[in-house]
Amino acid sequence: MNTPVIAIIGAGPCGLTLARLFECKGIDYVVYERDESPESNRNGGSLDIHGDTGQLALRECGLFDKFMQRARYEDTVFAIADKAGERLLELGQGRDAPEIDRTDLRQILLDSIPEDKIKWGHALKSATPGNDKSPVLRFANDTEFSGFKLIVGADGAWSKVRPMVTRATPMYTGKSFIVSTIHHANPLYETIASKVKAGSSLSIGCGKYIMIQRQGDGSYRISFGLQAPEGFFRNGSVDLQDTEATRRVLLLQFYADWSDEYKDLVRYSTDFCAWPLYSLSPEDMGWESMQGVTLAGDAAHLAYPGGEGVNVAMTDSLKLASKIAEHGVNHIAQAVQEYEADMFSRAIDAITESKAMENVMYSENPQAFVDHICA
Ligand SMILES: Cc1cc2nc3c(=O)[nH]c(=O)nc-3n(C[C@H](O)[C@H](O)[C@H](O)COP(=O)(O)OP(=O)(O)OC[C@H]3O[C@@H](n4cnc5c(N)ncnc54)[C@H](O)[C@@H]3O)c2cc1C
Repeated sequence: MNTPVIAIIGAGPCGLTLARLFECKGIDYVVYERDESPESNRNGGSLDIHGDTGQLALRECGLFDKFMQRARYEDTVFAIADKAGERLLELGQGRDAPEIDRTDLRQILLDSIPEDKIKWGHALKSATPGNDKSPVLRFANDTEFSGFKLIVGADGAWSKVRPMVTRATPMYTGKSFIVSTIHHANPLYETIASKVKAGSSLSIGCGKYIMIQRQGDGSYRISFGLQAPEGFFRNGSVDLQDTEATRRVLLLQFYADWSDEYKDLVRYSTDFCAWPLYSLSPEDMGWESMQGVTLAGDAAHLAYPGGEGVNVAMTDSLKLASKIAEHGVNHIAQAVQEYEADMFSRAIDAITESKAMENVMYSENPQAFVDHICA
């Protein structure tokens, strides 16, 4: 088999958007993905896809109509409350940033790419320069590939491609999400549904928050935004498999002074999952372009999830594919240099804005968040 021209590492929103754009532009590629199959990763959550970035990429992919079949414009509404449950503001009606479940977005992209272009069960262990300087990819399943004109690291927060181009590593933000879902069968479901209805509700107080967000199937995803030491909820003192113990910690250590309606969210939540949050810094952006390797999406510019991450990632794919199509695969270094120059400046803006969002989401009261959003 001939070696494809470009290897994409990671079949997340970034890697799959890039693959689809290469498919449309007739550029030869292969995708290596750690997951064993499309079904093995059901990581959920809902993503808002913005008109001038994520949606633009989907239009260029020829997938905008498919996106519109699943996009939820009714879920752009966003209520802000305090820890006593008093609503301060409702905004977001008619915003051109409809929600779509992460799993739906992945499926739309997967359906648009020939199955044999994605190599499932290929967890990259390392990428190192080979004798001819073109990178060698080594995978956990003991396979090894080389000879590509370009490797694109779209392998997310803990990219194994990143060390080839920069020493930057993500730093723990001091913040973690604990996530749970209130499904229809949950005794609290009707209460939540009648209160939140569509969209999201964000309640802020005493340096933490609770976000309730309606998902595509009508369930509500609850994110408890906490400040905790790194590893507190993973390998730390709290075992998330022990639901009762986790509820106790949340109620006693974090939400003791919140009103009962929020405490009920803790009491009825199950299947807790932790997301310790890491970020690169604006100073990390700007490595010297390296032959045959680049980064895109979270691998390039991981930031606190302030609502832009997936949109910036899909824009990276749009810009990189356009540059490669413009210069041709025989002038890929030029394409990568121009892509990176543009990506660095967008990434600096995105990380800076995410940091500002992080600060106001974990403030003492919701007013700082309201002021930031309304500025
Ligand atoms: C809890 C949470 C909530 C978020 N909410 C939002 C939101 O509401 N809006 C928003 O815009 N952004 C949000 N984000 C950020 C958003 O999810 C990311 O910015 C976006 O997914 C980046 O896409 P990506 O394709 O670059 O990386 P990822 O989505 O991380 O995809 C990386 C892919 O690479 C694969 N991979 C990883 N390592 C390897 C390896 N070694 N070998 C092969 N494959 C590998 C992974 O399995 C995955 O498929 C959130 C993030 C978190 C953590």
